[in-house]
Amino acid sequence: LASRLPNVGTTIFTVMSALAAEKRAVNLGQGFPDFNCDPRIVDAVAKAMRDGHNQYPPMAGIMPLRQAISGKIANLYGRRYDADTEITVTAGATQALLTAILATVHPGDEVVVLEPNYDSYLPSIELAGGKPVFVTLEAPDYAIPFDKLAAAITPKTRLILINTPHNPTGTVWRAADMRKLEDIVRDTNVLILSDEVYEHMVYDGAPHESVARYPELAQRSFVVSSFGKTYHVTGWKIGYVAAPAALMAEFRKVHQFNVFTVNTPMQYGLTDYLRNPAPYLDLPAFYQQKRDFFREGLAKTRFKLLPCTGTYFQCVDYSAVSTLSEADFSTWLTSEIGVAAIPVSAFYHEAHESGVVRFCFAKQESTLATALERLARL
Ligand code: PMP
Ligand code: GLN
Repeated sequence: LASRLPNVGTTIFTVMSALAAEKRAVNLGQGFPDFNCDPRIVDAVAKAMRDGHNQYPPMAGIMPLRQAISGKIANLYGRRYDADTEITVTAGATQALLTAILATVHPGDEVVVLEPNYDSYLPSIELAGGKPVFVTLEAPDYAIPFDKLAAAITPKTRLILINTPHNPTGTVWRAADMRKLEDIVRDTNVLILSDEVYEHMVYDGAPHESVARYPELAQRSFVVSSFGKTYHVTGWKIGYVAAPAALMAEFRKVHQFNVFTVNTPMQYGLTDYLRNPAPYLDLPAFYQQKRDFFREGLAKTRFKLLPCTGTYFQCVDYSAVSTLSEADFSTWLTSEIGVAAIPVSAFYHEAHESGVVRFCFAKQESTLATALERLARL
């Protein structure tokens, strides 16, 4: 069979989680919390099921949830998306990203990707027949080279994919960055796909710079988020996309034949929960405490800390500890030291070794403490 994705194997997250389980390592690899979500949200889903919300919801999601999403975006970022025509509930951010790409990218179109990048982007572009054009974030702190980004735009560019806060580097875009992006896309027909799944994990009091805040960007953007990240329910696979009506109409043409719609009871369960801003407003402080605890511990080891201003990922430079490749080091660390990590090389399209691995700190303090104890032995 001629594969549509000849270069795709099993994702690094699956590989490292399996190895961590086999070796009984502390799993700081794949990004997910090791603690449970708020029981109230589970009760709300159970109630929705008991109340009979068990059949197909509307294709774009139940209206009360879409209204709650619209309200949240308006309150936080000042843009009012029409719940009827501009918001769609999706099966996680992954489906939103793939669907937006399939809906807009024609064979031969160029899609600009900043790397390192999340691993679903390239296969999604490839399935659409698009051509990825890479712009590499610059060492040592993963700065965005805006001159190179501008130079990457051609008449064939359909889409720029951005991700802030950024997986895997834990960096965030600032207002000045958004202004530079505005300058780059002004007078072009380039669309933006903005992956904002970590929107509620920005630290040190800084705001999340959603494209929704910037009218010139928002009018050409799909904004993607995920309830899995915000509410500690990565296994629920539910998120959403917001975009101007004309873009959303195209998105829905693909969505309705991709998943058609997303499970009903969780939509009801999330609606009431989302109406209360406290859980997402409290999230930065909740994760910042974990970040600080983890960084203070790592500062006492031979790993060199890289910046972490957002997400629940902390990257470290391990060059003082080992000369192994990132993949080999991650395997060794998992098998021999009992701490699983993700090689950052997995987020690049070709060989790229910088002696950096990613840890996930969405863990109980006791889990992080155990990992730190092991890392301190190196
Ligand atoms: N984008 C990024 C940057 C992510 O880190 C993730 C989660 N791994 C996703 C998208 C996918 O989110 P979801 O689980 O909601 O599909
Ligand atoms: N987003 C998560 C991460 O980056 C993993 C998601 C997945 O396993 N596909 O670790």
